[in-house]
Amino acid sequence: MTIMDSLPAAPHVGETLGRYTVERVEALPEMQGTLVLLRHELGARHAHVIRADDNSAFGVTFPTVPKDSTGVAHILEHVVLMGSQRFPVPDPFFSMLPRSLNTFMNAMTASDWTTYPFSTRNEKDFFNLLAVYLDATFFPLMRYESFRQDGHRFEFATPDDPTTPLKLQGVVYNEMKGAMASPGSVMWRAFGKALYPDLTYANNSGGAPEEIPNLSYEGLRAFHAAHYHPSNAFFYTYGQLPLARILDAIENHVMAQFAPQTLDVSIPDQPAFDAPRHESAVYPGTDVERGAQVLVGWKLGHSSDPDLNLRWSVLSDVLLGNPAAPLTRPLIESGLGSALADGSGYRDSFREGAFAAGLKGLPAGKAAEVEALVLRTLEEIAAQGIEPELIESSLHQFEIAQKEVSNSGYPFALGVMFRLLGPWLQGGDPVTGLRLDAQLSRLRADLARGPVFEPMLEGLLANPHRVTLEVAPDPALAERAEADEAALVERLSADFTDEDRARIVADSLRLKELQGQEADRSVLPTLGLGDIPTAAPAVTYQTEQPGRARVARAAQPTGGLTYLDVQLRLPALPDDLLDALPLYTFAVTRSGAAGQDYVSLARRIEAVTGGVSAAVGVGTPPDDLNAVRLAVTFSGKALARNAPALVGVLRDLIAAPDFTRDRLEQLLKQRLAGLQASVVQAGNAYAERLAAAQLSATGAVQERFSGLTALATLKATVEGEGGLDALLDRFGRLRALIRTAEPLLALTATPDDLNLDLSPLTDLFSGDAPVGRPAPALPTRAPQARTTDVPVSYNAVAFPTVPYTHPDSPALLVLSRVLRSEYLLPELREKGGAYGGAASFDPREGVFAMSSYRDPHVARTFQVFRDARAFLNGDLGERELTEAILSASKILDPLTSPDTAGRRRIYGDHAGYTQDLEQTYKARLLAVTLDDLRRVMDTYLTEGRATYGVVTGRDPNSDELRALGLTFDVQAI
Ligand SMILES: [Zn+2]
Repeated sequence: MTIMDSLPAAPHVGETLGRYTVERVEALPEMQGTLVLLRHELGARHAHVIRADDNSAFGVTFPTVPKDSTGVAHILEHVVLMGSQRFPVPDPFFSMLPRSLNTFMNAMTASDWTTYPFSTRNEKDFFNLLAVYLDATFFPLMRYESFRQDGHRFEFATPDDPTTPLKLQGVVYNEMKGAMASPGSVMWRAFGKALYPDLTYANNSGGAPEEIPNLSYEGLRAFHAAHYHPSNAFFYTYGQLPLARILDAIENHVMAQFAPQTLDVSIPDQPAFDAPRHESAVYPGTDVERGAQVLVGWKLGHSSDPDLNLRWSVLSDVLLGNPAAPLTRPLIESGLGSALADGSGYRDSFREGAFAAGLKGLPAGKAAEVEALVLRTLEEIAAQGIEPELIESSLHQFEIAQKEVSNSGYPFALGVMFRLLGPWLQGGDPVTGLRLDAQLSRLRADLARGPVFEPMLEGLLANPHRVTLEVAPDPALAERAEADEAALVERLSADFTDEDRARIVADSLRLKELQGQEADRSVLPTLGLGDIPTAAPAVTYQTEQPGRARVARAAQPTGGLTYLDVQLRLPALPDDLLDALPLYTFAVTRSGAAGQDYVSLARRIEAVTGGVSAAVGVGTPPDDLNAVRLAVTFSGKALARNAPALVGVLRDLIAAPDFTRDRLEQLLKQRLAGLQASVVQAGNAYAERLAAAQLSATGAVQERFSGLTALATLKATVEGEGGLDALLDRFGRLRALIRTAEPLLALTATPDDLNLDLSPLTDLFSGDAPVGRPAPALPTRAPQARTTDVPVSYNAVAFPTVPYTHPDSPALLVLSRVLRSEYLLPELREKGGAYGGAASFDPREGVFAMSSYRDPHVARTFQVFRDARAFLNGDLGERELTEAILSASKILDPLTSPDTAGRRRIYGDHAGYTQDLEQTYKARLLAVTLDDLRRVMDTYLTEGRATYGVVTGRDPNSDELRALGLTFDVQAI
């Protein structure tokens, strides 16, 4: 689909469309769109955004206000996606993923609402997904077995043997056990409870593992009937599809089946505290020296008030928005902790907003010190006044956010939904979430009259509704939680009769039987191979070659922003520099440069750019997996009027960075804390990297850049004697080496802004580039396990395969999609109780991997990986093949936007992944057969080629693993 020349016209206020009435129509000039707000007779609200974007979006959101921590809203979110009246298959949601060309599909439970959004570039797909989403949310089957599978259930250790120990099981139950092991999640939930103890925010909306078993099946159904009703629904649609057709579909599928109903989901105000409070919470962890954090937070006014919301957003950005910010800097420089605490900043997700600040990377018992530091610093800022330049810098950041149209990270089509949802759900004006102009001009007028932010700070300091919250690791908690779980099982099952035990066995067997049944997925709508676009999108750009540099300029409708990247391909590096490189790119944009210290440089970056970054990348050419390419890329964006200043910033970062020992120490501690926290969230990626590192030089380099090896190296640098001085010396060598690289500059801007003078950058690279390609040593093979404080495991196996240009590559990509949806998800998630299971294949890296996420098993999962070949011999048909090809084509056609389309093409061409090669790959993909899948599996995914990685809570070596021929090298993280 291409962008249409003319958009559908907006309806008029007062016009009726069926049983809908148009209540408001508002222009959205910054994003060149129109917002239409409608109301249905049954009370449903609908926001429709008309905008020239080939990506269309839908979302339906229900305020869900739980009264306990049984996780009812979260379990409901899982269960509604397990079969509906028109689509009675066990997993319509997962089944649609490969039948669609969606650019986003998900469901999310927040503390007081639940939302079901999707987006797609294909019109047929939009209406297919709409039908499935509407049926799932309004007419779910909510089978008892679904409740037991994803909520909670009793099961005997050997399910058909009532003499074995009883256990609690359930997908959400296990998911929340994993989530509550992360300090960030514990902090976030404890913060809501501490600041709003009388409201719904005091509950764990995801479900507290010890309370989940209190949820009854009837309670779940009643919660659905009350909340998932048109009168309590907020619909959102976006794009250029005709509104009348969308509303018709909703009327016929949903509205026609409902009678009016009312539900009070309003959240009252939290009664104000008379005096500040102190609270604490714990998570399972052993790092008592650095694992604690302290957050000081206040309750503010209603976050649906647009002026208040904007002002606190700006003030929060001024105080905390960058390393030099007046609250961030004294906190970090105090040396008490290493980084801002999770939850720092302004939060409008509560009905009454919150502002908080604090530190992490602390030993326990520092609450009083951090509290005193935060209060003292805020008092000083209020007394001395905030420099007007800082406020201007922050307002400039809001200008950029208003103008930028980007699908990076998140489709813009759904970003618009989340911006309007905040005020909308809280009874405010949804338009204020999309148009800041009125609030901004009132703020500017007030600022011209006198101080605005200083009185806000004084009010904050005088506000007794304050909480100081400490979250600390408790080394005994994991063990205690296990004992508590055993006691809970004991208590709940104390009165069980023989009949009860027989019923548990019968229920387990029934669940197993249902899971084993072949579902008829043909009731679900689907796209066909003919719906896959075959041509790679054409993007044009101009090139020039000043000296050693190459420059590419791409014209795009960027909304007035300029994006600039400088990619520097590096020559061979000695091992010690290789390890230092990711630390260099982390530190370089956060330190000083060209005579400015880090504070001055951070202020300069905030004043003239929308952010700069540096990253290290490793890749291979399309036809050779053994050639390693290393590059460092410096990137930034700015309003076009500031583009020359952006060039200056990048030049200083590349040519004249200044590192000081003190600043570097702070930064490395921050990075260490961040990496340690990421292990729980991304354990599967770390496990995959451990496995892939044993396969190729590229994999080994990636492990050293971003795997657990990088974490170990960093820890040794921070904690070892003389580590910092040695690193500073390596940074000096890297700085010199970077000037010898081969540069490629990519500029993206509107046609008017494309002639930017880039010579200050290209002049840095004169003379010949040194020869020599990176040739890191090949790794050795041995199954690798890393242990850390998690109650679950992340298991991975990897295989070496072929480069991008090899004819088997597309079949491997299709195979990864088949195994993921048809085999690993059912086996690991539904039967094994893991939160997720996946197969992945990166065509540019040639590594095929299978992994599990938040998995209660190790040996069972590796057996499942082994049995993949037997699954392929089963009755796999054309439907599965078509779905896998559709799914694979999505990976090849990622959603781009004006900020990324040009860069993607420029970098692709430069690395040899040309449009021609992409089209050849796509043509081969469409021709993949079932026999190809079996053949590539037999050729490449054999036991002799496999490598293994595990991230887990304890030594995984067991008799069952040894029976599989696996013995892991175990190291603690
Ligand atoms: Zn979940």
